[in-house]
Amino acid sequence: MGDLHNLSVKALAALLQSKEVSAVEVATRFLARMGGNPHHAFLDIDSEATLTQARASDAKLANGTAGPLEGVPIAHKDVFVTRDFATTAGSKILSGYRSPFDATVVERLRNAGMVTLGKLNCDEFAMGSSNENSAYGDVSNPWDATRIPGGSSGGSAAAVAARLTPAATGTDTGGSIRQPASFCGITGIKPTYGRASRYGMIAYASSLDQAGPMARSAEDCALLLSAMCGPDLDRDSTSLDVPVENFSAKLGENLKGLRIGVPKEFFNEGLATDVRTAIDAALKNLEIQGAKLVPITLPRTELAIPVYYIIAPAEASSNLSRFDGVKFGHRTKDYTDLVSMYKKSRAEGFGEEVKRRIMTGAYVLSHGYYDAYYLQAQKIRRMIADDFQRAFAECDVIAGPVAPTVAWKLGNNASDPLADYLADIFTLPASLAGLPCMSVPVGMGESNMPVGMQLIGNYLQEAKLLNVAHQFQLNTDFHNDKPEGVE
Ligand code: GLN
Repeated sequence: MGDLHNLSVKALAALLQSKEVSAVEVATRFLARMGGNPHHAFLDIDSEATLTQARASDAKLANGTAGPLEGVPIAHKDVFVTRDFATTAGSKILSGYRSPFDATVVERLRNAGMVTLGKLNCDEFAMGSSNENSAYGDVSNPWDATRIPGGSSGGSAAAVAARLTPAATGTDTGGSIRQPASFCGITGIKPTYGRASRYGMIAYASSLDQAGPMARSAEDCALLLSAMCGPDLDRDSTSLDVPVENFSAKLGENLKGLRIGVPKEFFNEGLATDVRTAIDAALKNLEIQGAKLVPITLPRTELAIPVYYIIAPAEASSNLSRFDGVKFGHRTKDYTDLVSMYKKSRAEGFGEEVKRRIMTGAYVLSHGYYDAYYLQAQKIRRMIADDFQRAFAECDVIAGPVAPTVAWKLGNNASDPLADYLADIFTLPASLAGLPCMSVPVGMGESNMPVGMQLIGNYLQEAKLLNVAHQFQLNTDFHNDKPEGVE
């Protein structure tokens, strides 16, 4: 069993069910690999808490009450609240916070049998594209430690790529599952808005936030997605009232006749040549498998940036008002009255980027500016969603790059937050429309850094996306590539 940590979720589940290996053995292997916290991917590790879960899983495997993923390890992005581990959302303001309950997604994965390895580093309140906005320090990319892992689910992507966990949860508001998955050479999917419950997922921008799995293959993502999704109407009124599908059962279909829309706006001059070359080769592969490439247009792609960076901060400014030193979070030691207590607690607890967004958000919602910014942005958001519907009249799925370049160097955009915002151009449109979308590793670009292809589907078409990714992965081996130095 020397290779346990290189096995897929699917293979680990099978070994556990047939009792060739125990949940405690599997957990022990991963905990050993997590020792020293490689890449600074984790924010909380508690071996005893993990082993307690693993022992409970072994008991279920022994008495015949095991779930389908019993004993398979997973780690959670630190925006999901957990009872057994601390939760900070990457922020100082929540330092030492312990939730009295598990997020629905965490609870469902545990009910399916999964054992929690710990909590993963991320940008503060999921605001960022590089993980450099975490109050607890950067995460390094396992492919090149001088580069960012992407963000905001940077710890999740780095941990999966470095084989510290076979799977992780992420959240995606404007690209935070797809972009780090792309930068670290793994597979990740953001389902349709509402597929996964947001209960217990610390809110950033509620009309966009969505949870999803990150793993090495589409096959594993399908297993995880089926376990974590489904209606949760009593606890999240925006969760969709549609039954969860068995996504794994829908991975068999060949691609003959599938129409893949290729938006011309995703292949503009801003797209780096190395990324374009890898995406073109992947599209060719899909074409050889029988898919038909259809040129399409998503004319408002560029507008997605200003629209998102108005709507998301507006919602964030409202959501983050709860962190006031009274209801939740850090309270300053030094205050004279209630107002100074609020002000100082928040000034001390939030980082620069979070403050920038709270200020932007409050501004675009304020009297006199609301119509010019927020209302206008909502109207364009609707037009962006309509553009997708026009496109889906001509194609079954849309394919293009996840990001304009491969992962950049740590510190590169430190003095220029706008550079990070602009790099979100290809992930933001699908988020604004609430569509399912994913990242699939399709090869290496400049400096031997991974490139991800984005697949976007119409509402509730996750199965179609996962199948395209799976057919690609049956034909290629990029998803099995390992960073140098990872055993
Ligand atoms: N990079 C985007 C932002 O900074 C997306 C983040 C996310 O999806 N959570 O808001």
